[in-house]
Amino acid sequence: MEKKKMFISKKDMPASELKKNVLSNVYLTNYKVPFFIYAPIVMAMIVYALFFIQTPLSLFLAYFLIAIPLWTIFEYLSHRYVLHAKPKSAFWQKVVYSVHKGHHDYPNDKRFMLVGLNISIPALFIFYGLSYAVLGSLCHSFMAGWVATYLFYDWLHYAVHNYNFNNKYYKIYQRHHIEHHFLDSDKNFGFITLLWDEVFKTRLNKDEKLEKMREVKR
Ligand SMILES: [Zn+2]
Ligand SMILES: [Zn+2]
Repeated sequence: MEKKKMFISKKDMPASELKKNVLSNVYLTNYKVPFFIYAPIVMAMIVYALFFIQTPLSLFLAYFLIAIPLWTIFEYLSHRYVLHAKPKSAFWQKVVYSVHKGHHDYPNDKRFMLVGLNISIPALFIFYGLSYAVLGSLCHSFMAGWVATYLFYDWLHYAVHNYNFNNKYYKIYQRHHIEHHFLDSDKNFGFITLLWDEVFKTRLNKDEKLEKMREVKR
């Protein structure tokens, strides 16, 4: 059986590759940019919900907090089924490559680590519209939690690829994601929680890890 190559290079993707495989993208290489754009949006949603339309604090907190687990399910499912999809059309292959496959091939290339603004801005409008349709004016409380969780996710993903913080929990998340990159990209899809990998049985277990490590060394 042909051995599956987990990545192409630990360097940046060469310009020739980029032109061939990647849609014209708005790259984000600075992790602070999403904060500058989306933290004010989170603040505006909070202020609007609590002070303009006077959502009761208990309702605000309930909808803010429910957004967090819902975001983690969305994050798990979209990583597993959208970002790792194998579309037949050349156009969709390019889309998947631009938003995720390129990150697997060049895991240290900062241009593929953060969610591009060309994805996150339209996504913000889509989720705002959907949550407004379902929740009415409570959507502002929900969206504050949803966008704040996205911000945390985007930073954490960037961080695990770039920083080695000496924190027990951080190291668990870091190891989980690094195994997704370097041992088995069909496992460990979850990011800010490992729960969905446990629930859907996609978490690499000890035996599988040892087997994969042997394969990588071979
Ligand atoms: Zn990654
Ligand atoms: Zn992946």
